[in-house]
Amino acid sequence: MRPILHRTCWSLQHAFAGRRPQAHPHDPCLQIPRLHQKLKPQLSRRYAVAEYKGDWEWHQRLWQMRTHWNAKQICHACRATRNSKGNDGQCCFTLFGSNFPRRSFEECLLESMPDCPCPLVLCEGFHPAIIRFCAMHVLALGIYQTLTAEALLWLCEQRIFAPSATDLDERLRAAFLHFKGWLRSNKLSCSGREFSSKRLHVSKIDYPYLGYKAFNTRIVLAWFEMSEFQNDLECTDRYLTGSEGEQLYSEGQRALRLYREAALIFSGKGELRFLLRPKLHAMDELLKGCREELYNPRFFQNYAEEDVLGLLKPLAQKSILARHFEVTMLKRYFLRWDLGRTDFMI
Ligand SMILES: [Zn+2]
Repeated sequence: MRPILHRTCWSLQHAFAGRRPQAHPHDPCLQIPRLHQKLKPQLSRRYAVAEYKGDWEWHQRLWQMRTHWNAKQICHACRATRNSKGNDGQCCFTLFGSNFPRRSFEECLLESMPDCPCPLVLCEGFHPAIIRFCAMHVLALGIYQTLTAEALLWLCEQRIFAPSATDLDERLRAAFLHFKGWLRSNKLSCSGREFSSKRLHVSKIDYPYLGYKAFNTRIVLAWFEMSEFQNDLECTDRYLTGSEGEQLYSEGQRALRLYREAALIFSGKGELRFLLRPKLHAMDELLKGCREELYNPRFFQNYAEEDVLGLLKPLAQKSILARHFEVTMLKRYFLRWDLGRTDFMI
């Protein structure tokens, strides 16, 4: 990846300066293509990198982070830790809303990144804060999956669905029928399969979560009427007002604290429920951004990018036997891309 990242950095630096390259990136003595020689050296606009998007695993791979969900120090932006050992437990990520010391650019470079950091740190204006946690992966594909599974299990344990049934799967089936009725009456759709103990990953040795896609998890969350925070996130614009930022922050922090309370209750009983996952800290970071930057995290989530992956996967499967996989796949991609249309035909 490093040669690609070096070239990307070179290209982004030119875009920042608003100029067209006048020399070959590897050797100034080499001529740039004749077509480009005729163009004006100055671009009509300048561009800056404002954010790096992607899920946590992508960031960890791209930036080779030492700080990640499985490490002792989990965050590239602050000094939050995975557990309460060291620092008198003052930086444990479960202390939601705490004023964890922030990392400066230099501290992030020296402590979070490897000895030979990703070349993109050389881009003008780089700061660790622009490596953004994806709201979709943190919420709909993380915390909401746990919340919806826990809510379903709690309702089944309280015998709200099929009270006479002895089997959990039977109660979950009844819950799913109720959910389908709610979808019909609200004219909503959800492609998620029937609830079952397998789909909820119910196990004595692990924590439950609902194995649904992001959109479907969000719909189940609405069924439980637990989506107040998510609704506000979706109804507010890119730039938040001070009161919107404060409201999102307080709603989100309340949810985090309730989650921690539930985890404490179940851990007191010795049950593996309400997993205190590091994604909760990523949500804490998103909330901090809402309040301090007044910028809606919905605008750096990756729904559209994940959709593109969904489009590319069938093409890759069709091209897998080709001798030149990358070329064949790109040709298939461009053959199906009609610039006059907004949709894409596989
Ligand atoms: Zn942090």
